[in-house]
Amino acid sequence: MKIHEYQARAIFARFGLPVVEGDVATTAQEARAIAQRLGRAVVVKAQVHVGGRGKAGGIRLAHSPQEAEEVAGQILRMELKGIPVRRVLVAEAVEIGREFYLGVVLDRSARRVVVMASAEGGIEIEAVAREKPEAIVRAAADPFLGLREYQARALAFAMGLKDRQALSFAPIATTLYRVFVENDATLAEINPLVLTKGGEWRALDSKMLLDDSALPRHPDLESLRDPDTEDPAEVQARANDISYVKLDGEIGCMVNGAGLAMSTMDTIKLYGGAPANFLDIGGGARAEKVAAALRIILSDPSVKAVLFNIFGGITRCDEVARGIVAALEEVRPAVPMVARLVGTNEEEGRRILVQARMLTAESMAEAARKVVEVIRG
Ligand code: GDP
Ligand code: MN
Repeated sequence: MKIHEYQARAIFARFGLPVVEGDVATTAQEARAIAQRLGRAVVVKAQVHVGGRGKAGGIRLAHSPQEAEEVAGQILRMELKGIPVRRVLVAEAVEIGREFYLGVVLDRSARRVVVMASAEGGIEIEAVAREKPEAIVRAAADPFLGLREYQARALAFAMGLKDRQALSFAPIATTLYRVFVENDATLAEINPLVLTKGGEWRALDSKMLLDDSALPRHPDLESLRDPDTEDPAEVQARANDISYVKLDGEIGCMVNGAGLAMSTMDTIKLYGGAPANFLDIGGGARAEKVAAALRIILSDPSVKAVLFNIFGGITRCDEVARGIVAALEEVRPAVPMVARLVGTNEEEGRRILVQARMLTAESMAEAARKVVEVIRG
């Protein structure tokens, strides 16, 4: 789950990370009042989930409450990459000396939580990783001991920090590690982490992603969910109890069972296609659920064809086929469909689908080959 900068900032503040003073506003007048209260130059920051807000005009400096009101008004009327800005963070402006990167992620191959830091902060870490990978330093935390102070100091020294600045960096890294672990995050990131002209550390940006599977342990975090930040298809899927993950291919996949869904995607790849999604409608595919899944798949404009791969176990294939036909009548898709149904009553199921003018296949391989062919024309 994505949370906004102002929400992550509040969590960082609670753990004692050096965030700057500030507050969130939904109107230009509120922004003015916050700037008034802070009594100094402020930055006004669009609270939307897109990278590079600065370049897009979503982050502006303001030197007076009057100016804060003006720029907040402008930003609140903007859309950043299609997402309307509903809130701005108004925070103390900082005189930046140097910009660093500090982030915590899970490294699955190391099976450790890894803390990454770089003296090349302020730009996206992916760009640093591409262009200057040696500028990123890492420390893997022991799952029982956590990130130790000496590891954090080693990171600081590796970035060329010395003396007081190296020593004061260490607790920031160990604290961000605790933020990550104690909130079941999948990412905790400060970019840029800034050394001010006066030599103080300030977290100028706060970013967190939370592990959806762990949210039941954190009801307070679940309440931070903002539907605006979510892909509408994923919201629909969750509401219909369908597992759905969007991918970047062009073949929509409608499958019952997670394992079957994975192998369907592999088989599509094997035959030279690319899946547009992972989708598991689960057991007992009723017509409404098939229709909901079909709507979700077809809401993706890159879908050029759909592959149904259904195993009729407890649910009989003829029932599934009738569900599919009912869904097709309701949704009326404009792209070709290939179906492979196996299991109980499969002949009857196939007959129903052929009548509905769907392409059918007897094996997963044949289905994948057909759907790839259909796209190629
Ligand atoms: P993002 O680009 O969407 O991640 O937004 P950030 O919060 O990281 O801000 C982008 C850039 O704006 C930072 O790297 C800074 O260079 C600049 N910036 C943000 N806050 C301040 C501030 O208080 N003072 C100054 N001078 N620059 C700031
Ligand atoms: Mn940033």
